[in-house]
Amino acid sequence: MIRCIRCCMPSTQEGQAFDEDGICNVCISSEVKMRIDWRSRKDELIEILENAKENHKNDPYDCLIPISGGKDSTYQLHVLVKEFGMRPLCVTFSHNWFSSVGIYNLFNALEKFSVDHVMFTPNRSLVNKLAKKSLKSIGDSCWHCHAGVGAFPLKVAQDYGIKLVIWGESAVEHSSRGTYANPIHKFDQDYFLNVSAKTRPKDMVDTELGISEKDLRAFSTPTAEVYSESKIIGIHLGDYIYWDEERQTEFVMEEYGWIETKVEGTYKGYKSAECIMPGVHDFTCYLKRGYGRSAFHASADIRSGLITRDDALEQLIPLDSVKPNALEYYLEITGYTEKEFYEIMNTKKKSELELIDITIRDNPTPFVRPKLFIEDLKEWLNIDRNK
Ligand SMILES: [Zn+2]
Repeated sequence: MIRCIRCCMPSTQEGQAFDEDGICNVCISSEVKMRIDWRSRKDELIEILENAKENHKNDPYDCLIPISGGKDSTYQLHVLVKEFGMRPLCVTFSHNWFSSVGIYNLFNALEKFSVDHVMFTPNRSLVNKLAKKSLKSIGDSCWHCHAGVGAFPLKVAQDYGIKLVIWGESAVEHSSRGTYANPIHKFDQDYFLNVSAKTRPKDMVDTELGISEKDLRAFSTPTAEVYSESKIIGIHLGDYIYWDEERQTEFVMEEYGWIETKVEGTYKGYKSAECIMPGVHDFTCYLKRGYGRSAFHASADIRSGLITRDDALEQLIPLDSVKPNALEYYLEITGYTEKEFYEIMNTKKKSELELIDITIRDNPTPFVRPKLFIEDLKEWLNIDRNK
């Protein structure tokens, strides 16, 4: 497996390319990021926001902010509401795998910024069926979330006639999509299909599992034509203001009471803290592509000068191979046996890894299956978990 000589991301990462010195394009972008004139970028942002305020001066909202309850959501709200005085409609697509910490962070943000909010939660049985289908289709557990977080905010923007949708971190921050010179503004079906969903809703229809086309309406993103007619523009805040997630996390924790949690498969507690399933998602990435969340986080920390590449390779990256405790829940809801799970994942393994032994290590920490917030609530309220 070839790894970037500067960070440690391997060639199996989607869209990965290396220059002649063996440096990956995310590392190259991170150098570009240091030389950007962020003052003039901020002026561009102000212009976009002022236009939105003007265009929506008679409407209840001037922009739409997709929020998950993650640290970025709170930071986005801080910048947009407190610094720039925007009047957003906040929108959450719930994966229906919310942790208690995630629900707290989400509702805490709504309280702190006093914003209106719309949330869509697909039903439990559909989520379970899609989680099962997802493994065979795209080789991870989370198709419904990848598709829903892209599609639902755009649907709401169309319904409410809101023309500006504001995401958080730049697409360039951790991936090879786009560049700082050409930030992405168009978020139609093709964009989300390439970025994360990989498979269109119609290809997730499965009569045996009982998934019909009708069930999947909430997951379909507008086509390029419909999107361009709607005249919605989307931006990532991270293309206009300098993004430093370590500092931003500290800030939202101190200022707004945002909290971290233990996230499986990594040494950081702030990414995907809102969900109980990142352990399984990242473990499937490891089985498929030979790296998981730790390699990803360690690479970001190397680029920021926080750790050395040698330390990352020795101490942090082995975390990717640990079997997550959430796998038990995934097997429970899908009905797969552990053997079937590994067999399916074996068919998804990248060809570059054919001859590489993908080690799987047992979890050294005591077994605690991550719990959904509703399970925690039952415990706190002393309600029989079987009721
Ligand atoms: Zn790199």
